[in-house]
Amino acid sequence: MAWALALHGGAGPARGRSYDREEAHLAEVLRRGADMLEEGAAALDVVVAMVGELEACGFHVAGRGASANADGIYELDAAVMDGVKRRAGAVGGLVGFRSPIQAARAVMDQTPHVLLIGAGAQAFAKSAGLEEVGDPAAYYTPAVSRPVEPGELAHGTVGAVARDTAGRLAAATSTGGLLNKMPGRVGDTPLIGAGTWADERVAVSCTGQGEYFMRAAVAADISARVRYGGQTLAAACAGALADMETQGGDGGLIAVDAMGNVATPYVSEGMKRGIATHTGRFEVKTFR
Ligand code: ASP
Repeated sequence: MAWALALHGGAGPARGRSYDREEAHLAEVLRRGADMLEEGAAALDVVVAMVGELEACGFHVAGRGASANADGIYELDAAVMDGVKRRAGAVGGLVGFRSPIQAARAVMDQTPHVLLIGAGAQAFAKSAGLEEVGDPAAYYTPAVSRPVEPGELAHGTVGAVARDTAGRLAAATSTGGLLNKMPGRVGDTPLIGAGTWADERVAVSCTGQGEYFMRAAVAADISARVRYGGQTLAAACAGALADMETQGGDGGLIAVDAMGNVATPYVSEGMKRGIATHTGRFEVKTFR
């Protein structure tokens, strides 16, 4: 049965730097996800597991590798969407928890809401029994430690999209957001339809300058292009990304469709990414 999986570790990696370590880890995680799908796991469980591993490794600007905001606080965003019934869960500005994607999944599974933010998200994550960070200075190992401009692209958001053997689609994304961001700033990642989307046609996870992805509703636009425009997945992704770029933004995305097609386009310098499919395709790349 046709399963497909794509992962990303963020748009905008710097040329001239080696990403061997990140690529090797991405390949390991991708292999585990491919095995899960091969064994019949649900797309939803696979994308949450993949993003959880990418959060925990500390190699990307998400989870353990996140950077603090301009006030030195680690405020993280994440979202998950299940294409089957369009159920979704998300957290914005979550402080103090190791796995924002687990918190997003708990919002989806355990509340009548889609998005919880700030103190409310924190209280909910605590009541859901999710693992806390403890001392932030001891836990976080920021993937980017050089001085940064406010709002600089983090090139380390992580995401996963999958089509499972039963034809179900799901998407998950997690991020520390833009580097040196203003306290309270929330990007596209936890906004359903902007940075994350899944329905019966497509599953999409975006990375890049979130403000532009929000203003172009990139993830939902891809579904609309397929649905109303009859576009292929590749054409829909290219069109939505071009619309975002026209506004002045930068970034990329990963997407799968109901037939198991995969697209991983980007308009940034590069994008850490991996693709695995039931046909034996297995690749991990950062640049072209
Ligand atoms: N899209 C993320 C945000 O704006 C950042 C990134 O993908 O690097 O929060």
